Amino acid sequence: MGITEKAYGKINLGLDVIGRRDDGYHLVKMIMQNVDIYDTLVFEETDDGSVSVVSGSDKVPCDESNLVCRVANQLKENFGITKGVKISLDKKIPVAAGMAGGSADAAAAYRALNELWGIGLDEKKLCELAVKLGADIPYCIVGGTALSEGIGEELTTLKDVPDFSLVVAKPDIDVSTGWVYKELDSSKVEVHPDIDGIRASIESGDLTKMCSLIDNVLEKVTRSKYSVIGEIEQILLQNGALGAYMTGSGPTVFAIFDDATKAEEGYRAVRESNLAPECFLTRPINPNR
Ligand code: ATP
Repeated sequence: MGITEKAYGKINLGLDVIGRRDDGYHLVKMIMQNVDIYDTLVFEETDDGSVSVVSGSDKVPCDESNLVCRVANQLKENFGITKGVKISLDKKIPVAAGMAGGSADAAAAYRALNELWGIGLDEKKLCELAVKLGADIPYCIVGGTALSEGIGEELTTLKDVPDFSLVVAKPDIDVSTGWVYKELDSSKVEVHPDIDGIRASIESGDLTKMCSLIDNVLEKVTRSKYSVIGEIEQILLQNGALGAYMTGSGPTVFAIFDDATKAEEGYRAVRESNLAPECFLTRPINPNR
């Protein structure tokens, strides 16, 4: 019984910060891409009105601070819902990794509770509510390949990326997103990623061009403090990756391969290095297909 939802993680095929709003939010220009690494959430209605979450992971909170509880409470308040929900969360997306795991779970909660509680909102309305809880949640509701602008709420769906093999590796370090943005603010960004060029290469299906352009303005900041990021990238490049990059504010690294065998070798080499306890051999995905 209940509703089961998959919540897919994302990588950034480009990330630029182009300014800052008066309220402190950063203005971004990013290309978002879902990958086939997902959390599974089961939503079961309860009659007593309570909202709870259970999870086998000790890395995510199991109280009201969990984003899925915040989504449930927001919907209850906004739409006068008296029913409750028990949410079971099987966490596979690395936590605090730059993969929007919490936002993906929140998006899954919007989709499931909209149905479970019969609220009947369309995607646009769900996104309007979602941006109040997190700038990446609207993208996670829409999914696939998308250009994300503003603080993350202005979304343009793009053509699916050409298929490729992907190694995703998260080193065992904790990076504070707040610290990364603070460092970025105090430094002068000399080279901005060519987000329009990346978009054009996706639209024309040119994987080699896309890999030559992918860039993340936050990578320089995080990599300068955590050398393990560069070390993992080197291993992946030595094994034939077309490119190796950081996603979000890090510390997760991903590498793109046009050859599945090389990707497998790269994956094995990272595992053997013991530099990234959470390591995946995966692919990009569009959950809407
Ligand atoms: P982003 O890429 O959007 O910056 P992230 O991948 O860096 O996100 P998350 O995995 O979303 O980071 O987790 C950030 C923090 O949010 C965690 O430290 C955790 O305490 C909290 N959190 C709340 N709810 C969740 C959830 N459902 N899943 C993961 N983390 C959650």
